[in-house]
Amino acid sequence: MATTTDTSTTRGPYRQLVGGEWLPGSDGSYEIINPATEEVVAEAPEASTDDVRAAAAAAAEAFPAWSRTDPRERAALLEAAGKRLAERTPELIPLVIAEAGATSSVGSLMQIPVAISRFDRYARGALTDLARPLPPQPIATTPLAPGALMGGVANRVPVGVVACISPYNFPTTNMVGKIAPALAVGCTVVMKPAPQDPLCVIELAKILDEVGFPKGVVNIVTGAKPEVGAALVDDDNVDMVSFTGSTTVGIKIMEAGARTMKRQLQELGGKGACVVCEDADLDKAVSGIASVWGFHTGQICTAPTRVIVHRSRYDELVSRLAEAAKALKVGDPLEADTVVGPVISGVQRDRILGHIENGVKEGAELVVDGRDPGFDKGYWVGPTLLAGCDNAMSPVREEIFGPVVVVVPFDDEDEAIRIANDSDYGLFSYVFSEETPRAFELAKQIRSGRVAINTVQTHHEAPFGGFKLSGVGRDGGDYGLEAYTELQAVIWPA
Ligand code: NAD
Repeated sequence: MATTTDTSTTRGPYRQLVGGEWLPGSDGSYEIINPATEEVVAEAPEASTDDVRAAAAAAAEAFPAWSRTDPRERAALLEAAGKRLAERTPELIPLVIAEAGATSSVGSLMQIPVAISRFDRYARGALTDLARPLPPQPIATTPLAPGALMGGVANRVPVGVVACISPYNFPTTNMVGKIAPALAVGCTVVMKPAPQDPLCVIELAKILDEVGFPKGVVNIVTGAKPEVGAALVDDDNVDMVSFTGSTTVGIKIMEAGARTMKRQLQELGGKGACVVCEDADLDKAVSGIASVWGFHTGQICTAPTRVIVHRSRYDELVSRLAEAAKALKVGDPLEADTVVGPVISGVQRDRILGHIENGVKEGAELVVDGRDPGFDKGYWVGPTLLAGCDNAMSPVREEIFGPVVVVVPFDDEDEAIRIANDSDYGLFSYVFSEETPRAFELAKQIRSGRVAINTVQTHHEAPFGGFKLSGVGRDGGDYGLEAYTELQAVIWPA
C-alpha cells in the first residue's frame, strides 16, 4: 500500500540525555520502522549497560538538590515544558504518526495534547501539600519515656530516582504520565521508552533540557534490546520502577526489583470485561465497544474487548457490532477519515492473527474477519468480531492488544459477574445498563481497578491501576503524586 506518511519531521541523529550531555548509544543505533509503510523513520541510539549505569548515577547525583528545590520552581519548569510541547505539537504529531502508526485523529487528539495537559496538571500538583496531620495522642509513661501528648504528621517525601519504562502504544502520553508527577514531588528520572517508537520521547527530553531542568534531573536511554530496561531495574541507584507494559515483563521486573526492594508502580495488561445488561442502551454499548477497533487499532490496555451480553440482547448486539465494524475505514493513518491504522509491528500482527485463529479452532464464530485487509506493505489487522465464545476460549482469556472483540452470552447477573471476574486481569471494566443504581451495584462486584458505567470515557482525577495480573499501585490525579513518594512519619511531644 502506498501511504502519504510524511517523515520529514525527523530530526536525527537522535541521542540520549545522560547527566546533561547528549550522547550517542555506546552500542550503536537501530532502525525505527513506520508500521504503515515499513519505511525507516530514523535511527535511535542503542544504549550499553554502561550508558544505563551512567544515567542512573546522574539521576542519583541530581536527586538531593532537586528534591529540596522550592516546589514553585518545579511547578514553573513543568508548566514551561507543557508550553514548549504545545509549541512543538505541529511537528511532533507527524512524527508519532510515523513511528507509532497512530491515525491522524489519535495522533492529534490523544498522543501529544494529553501529554501537555499532564504537564499542566502536575505543575499544579507540585504545589499540593500531601502531608497529613495526625491528631494529638496522649501516651502514658513507660520505661521507654515519660508520658506525653504526642503530635505528628504523615509526610510524603520523594522516593528518589525513578526508572520510567513505558510501552509503545502511547509513547509520549504514557511517559509524561510518569515523569510529570515524579518530577513534581521532587524525584529525578531515567526514561526508557519502548524500542519501537522512542523518537517523540527523545524530543520530549530535548524539551525538558531546553526549558531548564537541571543537569541529571531528567535522563533518557533507549535501545532495541530488553537488556536496556533490565539493566535499569537492576541498578542500585534506582529507587523505584514505574513500569507500564505487558504482564509478562512486569513479573520479570517485580522479581528482579525484589533484590533491592525497589518500589514499584506496575500498570500491566488488561482484558476489559464489558457487561451489557438486558436493559442496556445498545447505541451507547455499540459505540463504546467499537472503540476497540477505532481507538489505536485496539492497542490499548483499557479497551472493552471482552463483551459479556445478556442472552436476550445477544443477536441484536452481535449484528449491530458487525455492522459497526464493517463501516470503519482501515488504511493510511494520515488520511483524515481513516479510523483503523496499522498495528505496531509484524510480530504484533502475527500474535493477533494467532489469537484469532485459536478462537476459530476452539469453536468461536468469526462474524467479522479482519485477518487480511489487503495491503502489500505495513502491519495490518482489520476489525474482527468473534462471537458465540465461552470463557474458556483462549482469545477470551488472553490479552490480544489488537482490533479484536470477543462476545460471551450470559443468562443472569450472577453469571455475568462470575464470567467478568473469571480472568487473570482486572484493569478497566464496563457495565451498560439504563438502571444506573443496579449498574453501580454490579460495578462494585467486578474485580477491576476501574469500572465505567454506560461510557468508555475516562476521568483524569480518578485512581488508575489494576487488580490481579493487571498491576500494582495507582496513579491518576493526586494518586499519581502519592505514587512517587515514601510515607514518612515525623512525631513530637505536643
Ligand atoms: P512490553 O512489556 O513488551 O514492553 C514495555 C517496556 O518494557 C518496553 O520499554 C520494553 O523495552 C521494556 N522491557 C522489556 N523487557 C524488559 C525487562 N526484562 N526489564 C525491563 N524492561 C523491559 O509491552 P509493549 O508491547 O510495549 O506494550 C503492550 C503492553 O502494555 C500490553 O500488555 C498492554 O496491556 C500494556 N499496557 C498497559 C497499560 C496500563 O496502563 N495498564 C497501558 C498501556 C499498555
